[in-house]
Amino acid sequence: DLRRPQGLLDGLDPDQRAAAERPGGPLLIVAGPGTGKTRTVTHRIAHLVAERGVPPEDCLAITFTRRAAEELSERLSALLGERAGRMTVTTFHGLGARILREQHGRVGLTEHFRIADEARRAEIALEVAGSDSEARRLLARRDAGAAAAEDTALRDFEKRLRDHDLVDFGDLLALPVRLLGADPDLARGYRERWPWISVDEYQDVDETQYTLLRLLTAADGNITAIGDPDQAIYGFRGADVGFFLRFTEDFPAAETVRLTRNYRSNATIVSAAVQAIAPSSLVPGRALRAVGDFTDPPRIGVHAAADERAEASFVARAIDRLLGGTSWHSLDSGRASGEAHDGLSFGDICVLYRTDAQSAAVVSAFNTAGVPFQKRSHDRLLNRPGVRLVADELAHHPEGPVAERVRAAVALLAERHAGDPELVTDLRGAGELVLPLAARCGADLPEFLSALALGAEVDALDPRADRVALLTLHAAKGLEYPVVFLLGCEDGLLPFRFPGARRDDFPGARRDDEDEERRLFFVGVTRAQHRLYLSRARRRTRRGTEEEMRPSPFLAAIDAGLTMPVDEESAARRRPRDRQLRLL
Ligand code: ATP
Ligand code: MG
Repeated sequence: DLRRPQGLLDGLDPDQRAAAERPGGPLLIVAGPGTGKTRTVTHRIAHLVAERGVPPEDCLAITFTRRAAEELSERLSALLGERAGRMTVTTFHGLGARILREQHGRVGLTEHFRIADEARRAEIALEVAGSDSEARRLLARRDAGAAAAEDTALRDFEKRLRDHDLVDFGDLLALPVRLLGADPDLARGYRERWPWISVDEYQDVDETQYTLLRLLTAADGNITAIGDPDQAIYGFRGADVGFFLRFTEDFPAAETVRLTRNYRSNATIVSAAVQAIAPSSLVPGRALRAVGDFTDPPRIGVHAAADERAEASFVARAIDRLLGGTSWHSLDSGRASGEAHDGLSFGDICVLYRTDAQSAAVVSAFNTAGVPFQKRSHDRLLNRPGVRLVADELAHHPEGPVAERVRAAVALLAERHAGDPELVTDLRGAGELVLPLAARCGADLPEFLSALALGAEVDALDPRADRVALLTLHAAKGLEYPVVFLLGCEDGLLPFRFPGARRDDFPGARRDDEDEERRLFFVGVTRAQHRLYLSRARRRTRRGTEEEMRPSPFLAAIDAGLTMPVDEESAARRRPRDRQLRLL
């Protein structure tokens, strides 16, 4: 081995290094965005294997998305070489699927069981319940975790799933929890199999994931949980930041490590982020400061556009200017400072928004302006009709490399549905979306189908593509970009309320919801490394109705001295004449 093992922790600061070198036992790393949590845990795992003699197969690392798992695997491979391939690096659902494949017989499945998508679930629920409304209620009860034992319709539903060799998404975790919970020997076997566990983004675990983790870890086990309670943004989907907050009670032997140096963002962005989260921070007295040499960091650009189309074209124009070599300073102030930023390209830029619907205006403006982009939400891949059709079609054509079959299936389906242009567009988009996944699966169709069933759109984000990333805020977790545009900073979008609803229409709206929205804003702001723009529209059409929009209350939390209005008119006037897009 040519790698010098003592170099493994060289890239960490003393606090990070102390966390990475901590011996076994429960460990909680609680720290703000950009403080190197993910980097620290990566090096910790590598250190354990390379310098502490931990066998790679003893290591289980759980991440929030498959994309994050792939990135972690790549980094571990860079540090450890082929040994990294012997670790288990996966998502919670991936882990559940793996346990189920191994234990299939105990729950009435074959090892080739498939994961039912929503359409298939609805079909089976209708068979059981007899009417659409009853079927919907049945699925709601099931997703709420109702016990099948006391509910004859639910029991019937589950039996029919198994008869078809199917599980649904919830089963992927619920069944392993049931199995391990009922069989202490089995649980012990898995605990011995993975004595070293790390979980990134622990603030967003839900109850089932938490229970599985408890079954897989002894109270004094080697579990490292990493996270930031102020970035808990999946409460709407059942995640509960409470599990993070009580980690030291669940694991009394736990040591807690705090990191306070933010390596990602400049001082302006860090200050704005700290101010934005302060009113509802779950980490009282949180310390977070920027490091690095940021002399006179640019202010945060704020922009108010007439409507969502004007907002989108502001973004397109600003990108055009950023890549044209006009400096970030001059974009703000109207002065040519002569300080052009070298080498910035499309892939360095990210556009964030609260709801997927907001992307339509951006897509249209980018298409007009010729800005290449990749758009990803946090939605499950199978929620897209096009992806579902392709997956079903593939099941009929199991031979050949998968990627070729995907292309053929898209062509065939596009022809079959030629009368429905919207579906054809969706199909082509779906094909593009899943081809990178397909390419990685070679000829292994079951692997591809299960990747589709488990995956979110953001898993198909290509970090190397020189394209602007269009992401929902939920999808942007853990990512960073030199330049970030955060759109729709409006009351009603951030915090989100359904179109037409007024604040008072929701007497029951929990304060929790608004706190989670604030954390979402915090996550958005802290994705930016060098340059952040916060934009809003004064009017916006939502669900076909034009509404007057007021600024997001979250904006008011940021000191005016940190921001600077970006004037669209003067920006347009300063547009360089012969700028060339540095394209592709
Ligand atoms: P988030 O909460 O958003 O997930 P994080 O705490 O996981 O953030 P990382 O993504 O690990 O933060 O690190 C943020 C950035 O800072 C990365 O680009 C990382 O490489 C860099 N970084 C972290 N620690 C150091 C360090 N000691 N020296 C130099 N760069 C560092
Ligand atoms: Mg991280």
